[in-house]
Amino acid sequence: MQRRALVAGNWKMNGSRDSNAHLIHDILLEVRKYPDVDVLVCPPAIYIESVGRQLDGSPVQLGGQNLSEQEKQGAYTGELHGSMLRDVGCSYVIVGHSERRAFYGETDAVVAAKFRAAQSCGLTPILCVGETLQERESGQTEAVLARQIKSVLDACGIAAFKQAVVAYEPVWAIGTGRTATPDQAQDAHAFIRGQLAGADARISNSLRILYGGSVKADNAESLFNCPDVDGGLIGGASLKSGEFMAICAAAQSRSK
Ligand code: PEP
Repeated sequence: MQRRALVAGNWKMNGSRDSNAHLIHDILLEVRKYPDVDVLVCPPAIYIESVGRQLDGSPVQLGGQNLSEQEKQGAYTGELHGSMLRDVGCSYVIVGHSERRAFYGETDAVVAAKFRAAQSCGLTPILCVGETLQERESGQTEAVLARQIKSVLDACGIAAFKQAVVAYEPVWAIGTGRTATPDQAQDAHAFIRGQLAGADARISNSLRILYGGSVKADNAESLFNCPDVDGGLIGGASLKSGEFMAICAAAQSRSK
């Protein structure tokens, strides 16, 4: 089945008003060359609104990097409710990034609650899953992916995946310069799709599954040409307009 490509930039905790303005300016010069690709940027929360103003009228969409799992707004100092992300123009939000799982103690249960909170505010969650190097080397990759997917499936149900994106991000490939081979990526993506197909084959077939982990201009094409890879979640390379646009070009020209 034909799934529309998505290339999402996760800026993480990087940037300034000035550098953001330059980056977006350069992206906007190029982005219309890639009409078959959904392009998304996820700036640090404090910059979402100003980046959104600059994106106004463009095809580039806006996303958050994190949100609170709380159902309602209230006394949760430092937290951001999904409705606030919607209010400033976000349509997506990343949940369960490995940095949040590792540095901020987000458990599968918290990630599932964030996935639910995102959808209840009309945001499309980008659910990140992936194994550590030690888990891969000890043959646990599929068990880890199955556990991470199942916790969201159990909490939210298969219908929730109609309006969601999954990102396979092997932890050992994030920010390390070490990328999964196309075969490793394809195997993991097919496994994830298979897990969801057990609940509903049609939903699983239409779900976009992104690859993330040291995607660059020179490896994007081979990854995006894998049958179950529908685009990328891009960290470091999303901060350089030339790299990011070359990755969008690879998504536009994939042979599917
Ligand atoms: C990420 O943080 O989601 C990511 C994929 O980072 P990088 O591209 O830098 O490996």
